[in-house]
Amino acid sequence: MIHFNIAPYTGDELEYIKQAVDNHKICGDGKFTEKCSQWFKSSFKLNNAYLTTSCTHALEIAALLCNINPGDEVIMPSYTFVSTADAFVRLGAKIVFVDVRPDTMNINEKLIEPAITKKTKVIVPVHYAGVSCEMETINKIAKKYNLMVVEDAAQGVMSTYRSKPLGTLGHFGCYSFHETKNYSMGEGGAIVFNDMRYRDSVEIIREKGTDRSKFFRGQIDKYTWVDYGSSYLPSDINAAYLWPQLLIADKINKNRLDTWNFYYKTLKPLQDEGRIHLPVVPRYCTHNAHMFYIKTKDLSERTALINYLKKYDIQAVFHYVPLHSSPAGKKFGRFFDEDIFTTKESDRLLRLPMYYNISNNDREFVVQKILDFYK
Ligand SMILES: *Cc1c(COP(=O)(O)O)cnc(C)c1O
Repeated sequence: MIHFNIAPYTGDELEYIKQAVDNHKICGDGKFTEKCSQWFKSSFKLNNAYLTTSCTHALEIAALLCNINPGDEVIMPSYTFVSTADAFVRLGAKIVFVDVRPDTMNINEKLIEPAITKKTKVIVPVHYAGVSCEMETINKIAKKYNLMVVEDAAQGVMSTYRSKPLGTLGHFGCYSFHETKNYSMGEGGAIVFNDMRYRDSVEIIREKGTDRSKFFRGQIDKYTWVDYGSSYLPSDINAAYLWPQLLIADKINKNRLDTWNFYYKTLKPLQDEGRIHLPVVPRYCTHNAHMFYIKTKDLSERTALINYLKKYDIQAVFHYVPLHSSPAGKKFGRFFDEDIFTTKESDRLLRLPMYYNISNNDREFVVQKILDFYK
C-alpha cells in the first residue's frame, strides 16, 4: 500500500519524549515547548511564537483578538478547511466567501475589495498547499479599510512570500502541526505575531484567562484570573515529538521538494498534451511541497483515476467540499458574487502521496500508474 500520508518521523522523537518524561515536566510550557517557540522566533525573525493544541485553536485565539462581535463579517476563500471559518463563526461572525484563483487555488485578491462592507473586520488568506496568497495586495487593502489580517498558514511552515516566511506577513499567523502537516506533533499548532501589544492578551487567553505566564517570568508574585480564556497549551510530550523535526527542518523541506519536483517533471508531458494541469507557484514565492496535486479534466475523470490507482493500492485523495455548499457554510456564510472557480476546480483536484522520505520506488510507481491511466 502506498499511503497518501505518513506522519514525519526523524528517529529521535522517542529520545526527546523520554527526556520530557524524565524531566517530570509533561504539562504545557516545559523545556521542549520553549525550544520550539524559540526556534520559530529566531528562524522566522518573529517577536512572538506560542505553541497551541492545534491550528484551529491558534485561529480561535486570533479571532478573539480581532474582537469579533455578532454580525461582523470575515472574508476568506470557500475552498479551505472548516476551522478557518469555525474559529470566527463561534464568536458570531458572518463568513463572506470569495472565489479562488484557478492557478494557485488561493483567494482571488482582486475580489476582496468589492466584497468589503461596513461590517467587514478581518481578511483570512489561506496559503493553500504552502503557496502564498498575494499578500502585498491583501495587506494594502487591509490597511486602507483598517481590517485585521489573520493568515491561515496551517500548510505554510517554511514557505516564503517575497523572501518573508508565511505566517509573519499579517497581524497573526496560525500554523498546524497535525499529523498530516510537514512538521508534526500529532495534534498541535502555533500562533505567531510581531506586535508586542498582543503579547499579554495571547498569554492570558492561552492560559485559561490567567496571568500565569507573567508569574512564571517572575514579573508578578502571584497569578490570578484576569480575563476570558481557555486551555490552549499542548503537553511538553507533544512538543518533544516536534522538536527533532525542527532541528532538521531544512532537510525535511528539501526532501519533500525533491519529491514535488520529481512529480512535476515526470507528469509534465501530460500537461503538455493538455490532459492534466499541474500546480502553479508564482515567481516571488518559495513553497514547502506541502502537497502535490494534479487537476484532471473533470469530476468523472477524477473518480475514474482514483479508482484506477486504488486497484494498485495507491491512495490518492481530494479534499474540501467548498464550505459555502456545506450545511454550516450555508447557515453561517454567503458567497460573494459568482462561484466561477471554487466548485469547478475543487472537483478536478487530486492529491498524490506526499510525505517525508517517501521511497523512490513508490513515487515512481505512482507516476507510472498515472501515465498508464492516460495511455
Ligand atoms: C490542517 C488545517 C487546519 C487545521 O489544523 P489543526 O491543527 O488540525 O487544527 C486549518 N486550516 C488549514 C488550511 C489546514 O490545512
